[in-house]
Amino acid sequence: MRQPWRVAVVGGGIAGLAAAVRLRDRAPAGTEITVYEQSGSLGGKLRTGELAGQPVEFGAESFLMRDPTGAESAAVALARRLGLAEKIVHPTVGQAALVIDGGLRPIPGGTLVGVPGDLDRVTTVARPAADADTDGGRPLVGPDADVSVGALVRSRFGDEVVERLVDPMLGGVYAGRADDLSLVTTMPALARAARVEHTLVGAVRAAQAAAPRAPGAPVFGTLAGGLSTLVEAAVTASGATVRRDAAVRELTATGTGWRLTVGPTRDPEMVDVDAVVLAVPARPAARLLAGPAPVVAAGVGVLDYASVALVTMVLPQPRLPELSGFLVPSTEGLLIKAATFFTTKWGHLRRPDGLALVRASVGRYGEEAHLQRPDADLAATVHRELSAVLGTPLPAPVDGHVQRWGGALPQYAPGHAARLAAARTALRATHPTLVLAGAGYDGVGIPVCVRSGETAAEEIITALGGSAR
Ligand SMILES: Cc1cc2nc3c(=O)[nH]c(=O)nc-3n(C[C@H](O)[C@H](O)[C@H](O)COP(=O)(O)OP(=O)(O)OC[C@H]3O[C@@H](n4cnc5c(N)ncnc54)[C@H](O)[C@@H]3O)c2cc1C
Repeated sequence: MRQPWRVAVVGGGIAGLAAAVRLRDRAPAGTEITVYEQSGSLGGKLRTGELAGQPVEFGAESFLMRDPTGAESAAVALARRLGLAEKIVHPTVGQAALVIDGGLRPIPGGTLVGVPGDLDRVTTVARPAADADTDGGRPLVGPDADVSVGALVRSRFGDEVVERLVDPMLGGVYAGRADDLSLVTTMPALARAARVEHTLVGAVRAAQAAAPRAPGAPVFGTLAGGLSTLVEAAVTASGATVRRDAAVRELTATGTGWRLTVGPTRDPEMVDVDAVVLAVPARPAARLLAGPAPVVAAGVGVLDYASVALVTMVLPQPRLPELSGFLVPSTEGLLIKAATFFTTKWGHLRRPDGLALVRASVGRYGEEAHLQRPDADLAATVHRELSAVLGTPLPAPVDGHVQRWGGALPQYAPGHAARLAAARTALRATHPTLVLAGAGYDGVGIPVCVRSGETAAEEIITALGGSAR
């Protein structure tokens, strides 16, 4: 292998940037790392904007502090690596609510993304089916099987638990429906327990016991200066050359590495590298893989995505409840899917002038037509619905922002993990210096994507001949 190595990271989201940092830390000194990002800014779904003179998240808002085993999450470890650990802050108000019959009810504790481990604790919002979660003498899910979260929970706890608890909570993350989403990919800890336990209550409790949380330990964190500080620090630490407005349009295997076709069709640039981390969503990845690895492209490209819009408003002196926000079951017939009271939830965002920042997310998988509406229309509907749910007319906003995220949230169907494993095995066998990373493959969320990028970097290092450190 020629020295120094040349590695291209395609996609400047958090997965690509985590890969770049790991390459810098573990690949031989002098390795040339270049990040190609098609848009004008890095970070992908991490985007800190500004409203009322303070940083506000227009994309992802926070990260899980722990991974499903209970260990420190990869997002926290990356923040630490980048010298940002002391900037991590936690919600000052953690309690959120569900909208049930038009009003707010606190989300019951003790669930795993809405799936209860104690049925008595959820009766304030949903009536679990009586006696359906019986021991049938075998594990809930077979060794290689996958099911939808909705199908499993419906069969054990009945429809109301799915519609009023699991759907809005999973929907808060994926903008999709529990009936369509893979247990193995969206709730891996529960899937592992369900391969052993004979009841769903038993599986939830086993999953919770496998990742014990110290009493009072925070579940979520964010960075006081905004998540874009993570992006900026990762770029600096990686020492990568960053190419913005540089879409990679084609990948060609050269025999010793890869040729990238970068930039506009009329004025393309050809770049030769030894290895590629492909950290773009599944659809663009499938297009790039179609030439060198058509079978892999087919396996990757089937993933569907949901679109959402985030409507943020600055409200003067509104009367808000002491809640971090609320989630809305689709059965409530509202456009709003979830709302976050930023200035209540996060102590570091509270303001002496009484201005409140409220963000609502709009858009569920299959309801993209609503997102065709103009920004002002979405904002007016959100304002009206917020007032109705809170039972008090909210003051007119003094500022606001609508951020649209088209095709942003993967809808992992049952079988996703097996399909992806097969695609990766095929890719590794023919093209070990081309590795997939990010939410299109390993799951939604900053910690998962950081880990995915780091794992991709390690694979590249192995494929190119091992670490020099
Ligand atoms: C609205 C929203 C809110 C979220 N909130 C949270 C949250 O609070 N907490 C949490 O943990 N997770 C959250 N998530 C999920 C999390 O943000 C994502 O899972 C994660 O950021 C995805 O990172 P990624 O690097 O895999 O992909 P992306 O962020 O999608 O980055 C991929 C990058 O590749 C670029 N690209 C695409 N094609 C090409 C090409 N051909 N050439 C060059 N570049 C290309 C794109 O422009 C993009 O910048 C949220 C997601 C959304 C959409």
